[in-house]
Amino acid sequence: MNKKSEILIVGGGVAGLALATRLGQTMGRLGQARITLIDKSFSHVWKPMLHCFAAGTAQNENDRISFMAQASRHHFEFWPGEVIGLDREKRQAVLGPFHASDGALVLEGRTVNYDALILSIGSCANDFRTPGVAEHCLFIDNLVEANGFNEKFRMELLRAYDGGNELDIAIVGGGATGTQLAAELHKALEIVGLHSFAQTPPSLKVTLLEAGPRILPAFPEAVSEAAKKQLENIKVDVRTSAMVSGADETGFSLKDGTHIPARLRVWAAGVKAPEVTTGFGGLSLSRSGQILVHPTLQSVDDPAIFAVGDCSYIASEPLPPTAQVARQQAHHLARHLPGWLLNQREIPSCVFRNKGAIIALGDYNGWGTLPGGTVFGGGALKGLTARLGHEMLYRQHQIELYGWYRGLMSCLADWIDTLVRPSVRLD
Ligand SMILES: Cc1cc2nc3c(=O)[nH]c(=O)nc-3n(C[C@H](O)[C@H](O)[C@H](O)COP(=O)(O)OP(=O)(O)OC[C@H]3O[C@@H](n4cnc5c(N)ncnc54)[C@H](O)[C@@H]3O)c2cc1C
Repeated sequence: MNKKSEILIVGGGVAGLALATRLGQTMGRLGQARITLIDKSFSHVWKPMLHCFAAGTAQNENDRISFMAQASRHHFEFWPGEVIGLDREKRQAVLGPFHASDGALVLEGRTVNYDALILSIGSCANDFRTPGVAEHCLFIDNLVEANGFNEKFRMELLRAYDGGNELDIAIVGGGATGTQLAAELHKALEIVGLHSFAQTPPSLKVTLLEAGPRILPAFPEAVSEAAKKQLENIKVDVRTSAMVSGADETGFSLKDGTHIPARLRVWAAGVKAPEVTTGFGGLSLSRSGQILVHPTLQSVDDPAIFAVGDCSYIASEPLPPTAQVARQQAHHLARHLPGWLLNQREIPSCVFRNKGAIIALGDYNGWGTLPGGTVFGGGALKGLTARLGHEMLYRQHQIELYGWYRGLMSCLADWIDTLVRPSVRLD
């Protein structure tokens, strides 16, 4: 009897979980391959919501998808663990030991075989080795960091309530993450004010620092301008052409000598692949550590290794690190991997179809762009269409993973939750 092909997917984010679910429904269900997903954590979250979890304006209990539950319903296997290297000759991924949160060893380090390996380990912010950033800044690249930020934000608010002080927060990076976080923090404080210890909540001073000449550089200039105005209306101090040269426990230093005082300092600029890619058996990498792949999504060094989403880089057609790209690449492999594995058919090039982009500044405003350059949102309706579009993207992702019935039930559960719980995280 022929041995079943082994498909190993590392990283259950936007790309990895969609791919595992789709392959499980086809090859897994038909017994054509053994599909294994490995992730550092036990559950998936929709990363584009991390800034809301950080501010506390969304609460992640309902928004997590358990990998084990998803695997058992969709004919794939899940193992928790961190891949720390590859043995390309033996076609094995190397997993580090798995520890409990108290440090106790739970699983020894081990290896997992593959015939096809798909790397979908995402990305993190890039501090470009700016002095003091690693030691003195917070990041919101994953759920643990977003929850960690939220805890610090709530504690600093408490301190500001008690002392009657202003709370100052500086965010580096005027891209989608930093800009949306600035707005969500204001929204959070507005809602906290409704449940306050004192009648007047402390004031919040958010400074947004962007090295380039405008915020939201991936959007048309009109959107950058409108978003800047909106942020300034809610008293966010937006500073463009502000090159950060260092960070310490009091704030950020800029290249022009200015010091920006900040009790909480967030680094949300730049994108790079996780450090571990340098240990992936000598695979060729981009300058930001992303795995170099052909348009077929196969590594330029090894056709049995694929990379999708933020951790991959197509030199002939660089794509932005977005959820839209990650999903389309996952769908492409879900369609073509079975033929490649079972019938040695070549994988066609993955052609990215830009469907536009959306930015939502809390419920203050929002804008979207369509491929032809049309901009929508903003105006008297405060960008309602764009803000709804943003929400729809998340619901579409949930429905893709859960199926229609459970997806819609999950929307209903979230709606009921808003009737029961405060709309900001208070504990
Ligand atoms: C705050 C924020 C807001 C954003 N907003 C938007 C938006 O509005 N629209 C948009 O299109 N994009 C947005 N993005 C970008 C988008 O989230 C990413 O492009 C997308 O998540 C990339 O998907 P991915 O599958 O490549 O990686 P991810 O979704 O990041 O998943 C990576 C997975 O790999 C796992 N992993 C990492 N290393 C290892 C390892 N060594 N071993 C095992 N598992 C590992 C992680 O635990 C994680 O589950 C935003 C990002 C952030 C941070």
